[in-house]
Amino acid sequence: MNPSGPRLEFRDPVRAHGLVAALQQTMDGIDRTVTVMHVCGSHEQAIARFGLRASLPANLNLVMGPGCPVCITDMPEIDEACALALQGVRIATYGDMMRVPGTAGSLADAQAAGGTVDVVYSVAQAVEIARASGEEVVFFATGFETTAVATAAVLLANPPRNFSVLSAHKYIPPAMEIVAGMPATRVEGFVAAGHAATITGYGIFEPFAARHRVPVVVAGFEPLDILAALVRLAELVRDRQPVVVNMFPRCVTRDGNRNALAQLWRVFEVVGGRWRGIADIPDGNLRLRPEWAHLDARRRFTIASSALPTRTPSALAQQCICGTIMAGIAAPTDCPLFGHQCLPDTPVGACMVSSEGTCRIWHQYAGLPDLRQCPTCSTAGRPS
Ligand code: SF4
Repeated sequence: MNPSGPRLEFRDPVRAHGLVAALQQTMDGIDRTVTVMHVCGSHEQAIARFGLRASLPANLNLVMGPGCPVCITDMPEIDEACALALQGVRIATYGDMMRVPGTAGSLADAQAAGGTVDVVYSVAQAVEIARASGEEVVFFATGFETTAVATAAVLLANPPRNFSVLSAHKYIPPAMEIVAGMPATRVEGFVAAGHAATITGYGIFEPFAARHRVPVVVAGFEPLDILAALVRLAELVRDRQPVVVNMFPRCVTRDGNRNALAQLWRVFEVVGGRWRGIADIPDGNLRLRPEWAHLDARRRFTIASSALPTRTPSALAQQCICGTIMAGIAAPTDCPLFGHQCLPDTPVGACMVSSEGTCRIWHQYAGLPDLRQCPTCSTAGRPS
């Protein structure tokens, strides 16, 4: 028995080197640079944290798409939450949402102006606050279908009458359609997020793969999960096979979690709407169905967005290229503000605010595809 404890088999360096060698061999058979996209902040965190990009073949370009739920929450949605807070309604939301600016400031600004904003770790905690306080509490609900399922479960569990939801939840598959169809896209294959696919099933990607003629590989979040998915994806790109492969079978099935999906679609419906910095995404937003109107903050309150202070975006904010980064067309290092005027403590754009934002992650981990080089200081290490 290993005296140092159980082996982290999904972080085994020997197997990782084997997968990197297999990936190199596959990419050696492709005489061009191939761009593939993953669509998940958790994938980007793992890729950066374990330095995986430094191991990738030179002709494999791995980019992150619109996988940060905080980054794609649109400004008017944040304005609604800020307006409610300033109207005296208690807001509960995830911590990452506090500093993301809307058109008239952030929830942190609304809190500083006298609004009550609670940071919670779950929608259930927001319900507890409503029960304990007796005040009207609005849960500002952000995130993809994975977190929307939790919101749906709480609404189905008969929450207190003073609790409601302001939904800014998003639905990933339509966004992948938009990114794959962009004229400037270079993406030849997608890595799908294992946690979302645990809910939706991998079958949901099959029409997408066929329509856009691109392969999709579902991946988990450990280094070996990601490397194994990239090996399979590279093989599919090389062989021009636009199919879906599940490389996360310990969690994901073809049909997904039917109970969770039933709850999700009982509470939510898809509507079109804007994803910040990217585009209007048909069917990309999740909103409460009419039968849940009594728990829908948009119907329960008159949201006086006109009461918000008027602000014009700063000159720096106008230089932010978050949207282009999330479309996979640019990298954080293409932004002149990255690591200079835009830092985690003084973020200019949403991608530097959230722990799932590409700019924040790249900065946190010295932030470069090749960690051995730094364009800011021309040496190894974190940009100064
Ligand atoms: Fe926007 Fe800052 Fe990222 Fe530049 S570094 S794209 S300003 S978030």
